[in-house]
Amino acid sequence: MKNYMKLEIPALSENEPFARSAVAAFCVRLNPSLDELSDVKTAVSEAVTNCIVHAYGGSGGMICIECEAEGQTLHIQISDSGKGIEDVAKAVEPFYTTLGDEERSGMGFTIMQTFMTTFGLRSAPGEGTTVCMSKRFGGPQADEKARGRLADAQ
Ligand code: ATP
Ligand code: MG
Repeated sequence: MKNYMKLEIPALSENEPFARSAVAAFCVRLNPSLDELSDVKTAVSEAVTNCIVHAYGGSGGMICIECEAEGQTLHIQISDSGKGIEDVAKAVEPFYTTLGDEERSGMGFTIMQTFMTTFGLRSAPGEGTTVCMSKRFGGPQADEKARGRLADAQ
């Protein structure tokens, strides 16, 4: 049986660090490198923050986080039942934000896409939003190899 976890938490800002750490704790058994673990935590933090600030506009609601381990790959699904996104293609463009006056940079989805192996977004106005991401871990050797490539290039 594949290992799995499901977490339902209120969309409160104090739950963002909790969500990030819970997902990190779940995937430690997949033996990620420190860089890979940090990538996952950053992506989860961006997705959960979006639920808090955009989906529910700070007024609360529930966030559902599901994780599944498949071999060396972590699958994550983060969903809300908030206001949804009108133009999904536009929302994923770098620097696109609907909260520019609150000093958001519009880089959350771009960060998720960059830091994770796969990224998908499903949303419709009034129907909430679901982000699906996966990360394939190469393990601690992955950092070593990256450092080796860097040294070779220098
Ligand atoms: P940053 O993440 O850099 O602080 P941002 O949150 O505006 O800024 P993205 O995370 O890339 O940037 O999101 C882009 C836009 O997509 C948001 O401005 C918002 O309009 C919309 N959006 C993102 N997530 C959700 C969500 N869960 N529910 C409703 N709208 C969302
Ligand atoms: Mg964001």
